[in-house]
Amino acid sequence: MENSKPSLCSLSLSVWRFSSFGVRWVCYEMGRLFVINLEGLVYSCKHCQTHFALTNDLISKSFHCKHGRAYLFDNVVNVTVGEKEHRVMMTGWHTVADIFCVSCGSLVGWKYEIAYEKSQKYKEGKFIIERFKVLGPDGGGYDVDEDEPMIGSDEE
Ligand SMILES: [Zn+2]
Repeated sequence: MENSKPSLCSLSLSVWRFSSFGVRWVCYEMGRLFVINLEGLVYSCKHCQTHFALTNDLISKSFHCKHGRAYLFDNVVNVTVGEKEHRVMMTGWHTVADIFCVSCGSLVGWKYEIAYEKSQKYKEGKFIIERFKVLGPDGGGYDVDEDEPMIGSDEE
């Protein structure tokens, strides 16, 4: 069912709601580039400043990927979702799909489609964005809490 919808659209359906900031995220027709502007404290593309997510949607900063730290988000906007593929990660088998900035096309992270380990199920439908790909709410992209313990080590 999900496969029959354009990727941007199917993604937007999952974020069809009013956030605590009162920002309405809507689904737009394919064929035109539409960039959703979030209001509040946002994480945005390092290359083109397209908004990806609100700090409100941040679940964890304690993830690890092959390039270093990564963030787990509940919702991400303005990304296209690539092909689903199976990957063995430190935390077991997952079906994931790479996500790309809708404006500049850069690879920014991945989406967890399926987690096969029971303990990892909470990640399904969630998004990982690599820290060095984004600018944080303060514009720097590098946060202070480096001492936060790693809870997920999803190095490929
Ligand atoms: Zn971009």
